[in-house]
Amino acid sequence: MGRVFPSIQAFGNPPSVVENMRHVLQSMPNLNSNVVPSAITGYHVDDEGHWVAQLQCGHNQHVRHDPPLVRREWVLTPKGRRSMLGFRLGCKKCRESAPPDARPPAAREPS
Ligand SMILES: [Zn+2]
Repeated sequence: MGRVFPSIQAFGNPPSVVENMRHVLQSMPNLNSNVVPSAITGYHVDDEGHWVAQLQCGHNQHVRHDPPLVRREWVLTPKGRRSMLGFRLGCKKCRESAPPDARPPAAREPS
């Protein structure tokens, strides 16, 4: 391990996704650290009403929209969230070999 991913492309995301999500990527603080890429498989809302992405690796990760520090408009709409399914987020918990997170059932989105 110890690899540094130089760009979001290294996470295996297609160029079209990268282009569309440029503003999102700029708000991801963990891109330059040593993290393990893991795809979003679903979402749920935590006790405080914040959206949490459920990752393929078994960990959860907050994806809250909290302007002006964190801009993630996509997380506010079902369409936006759906568009990010399969997107790989860097998972710090994997890096730290953390045990899987407790995971409530994924939110049921209107189609
Ligand atoms: Zn993980």
